[in-house]
Amino acid sequence: MHKIVLKKGKEKSVLQRHPWIFSGAIAHAQVPDGEMVAVCTYDGSILAWGYYNSRTDIAVRLLTFGDSHPDTDLLVQRIRNSLMVREKCVTQCTNAYRLIHSEGDMLPGLIVDWYNGHCVMQILTAGMEQLKGTIAQIIQDTLKPKSIYERSDHEGRKIEGLKQINGQIYGTTPDLIEIHENNMRFLVDIKHGQKTGFFCDQRDNRNTIKTLAQGSEVLNLFSYTGGFSVAALLGGAQFATSVDSSQEALDLALENCKMNGVHAKHTAVKANVFDYINDMEIKQNFIVCDPPALVKNKKGLSNALRGYKELNLKIIKKVPHNTLLLTCSCSRFVDIKLFQQVVFSAALDARREVRIIGKCLQPFDHPVNIYCPETEYLKALLLYIH
Ligand code: SAH
Repeated sequence: MHKIVLKKGKEKSVLQRHPWIFSGAIAHAQVPDGEMVAVCTYDGSILAWGYYNSRTDIAVRLLTFGDSHPDTDLLVQRIRNSLMVREKCVTQCTNAYRLIHSEGDMLPGLIVDWYNGHCVMQILTAGMEQLKGTIAQIIQDTLKPKSIYERSDHEGRKIEGLKQINGQIYGTTPDLIEIHENNMRFLVDIKHGQKTGFFCDQRDNRNTIKTLAQGSEVLNLFSYTGGFSVAALLGGAQFATSVDSSQEALDLALENCKMNGVHAKHTAVKANVFDYINDMEIKQNFIVCDPPALVKNKKGLSNALRGYKELNLKIIKKVPHNTLLLTCSCSRFVDIKLFQQVVFSAALDARREVRIIGKCLQPFDHPVNIYCPETEYLKALLLYIH
């Protein structure tokens, strides 16, 4: 059995069930990377179990608290529990959802998305990499998917000491998968799309847009495959413009509009959004702004805050009277309070009358681990700009 010993006085966060142990809290560890360890107090009693990596600031990610050793039954139980939550709260309105949300489902380093019977796995840590075969087998046995595909081509794997992987694990995954969500249909490119192919985390916001877009002209910034544009047009918008820097994403946006019969009212523009909003007049009265995470670590925070402010400032300044703006941030390091402060300062500089008429966090299939507030990452403000 491998074990690590915590420095005296460093057990508090474990006792509060936070699943991360930072390297600075460890007095003694001689463990190969990726191995399961018992986390011990200075006097030797076991507080928790997790897996270790000497390369990362988060040295241990915990799976269980107390002295019970994590085994295959535990993994089966966790996966079944995750499925139960989705079946209670999500599967009524869609067949595309996040089945396992890493620490949010107490399986750190593991993302599993479900797209109409096909599974995508993303492994983010060395510890989870060791459990990959077991997890894939459990998924096959419990969920009976048509296929399992691995999208572990994530930047974060490099510091874990892992290589990039993009490939088939089980069965045959088609190039495009059709999914439905709240009476909309979308095509998902699991193998080449961004992340695992589709942003299920924006489901509730897409639905909000669908409800509110009647009669609007919509500008969908950072549109990816046009999810918000389709939602707005099906909700009765007069026209939607999708702006993104990826031609592949825009091509699929067009297909998605066709599938939903709304392509006549849609335009795609390939552009850098930062340049676009600098150069163009904004005539639309319903804007969605959903940039990628502008900050990937704490060091980049102040730059990212400037980015969010610049984006929101330009938009708020330029939009016509009576505009709705759904502005989003998916950066883990910017919480809703901080995001609101940034948007406040943008509104102030833009000298516009701005009301927050709605706030939204991530949907049911992206649970927040109450002991790990860092698992909350997506926030959106719906603004009315007079
Ligand atoms: N709103 C989308 C998800 C957006 S993901 C949805 O609901 O599906 C972020 C998108 O921003 C990606 O499609 C990426 O190609 C695009 N992107 C990243 N940087 C960009 C930039 N500077 N200008 C334009 N698009 C950008």
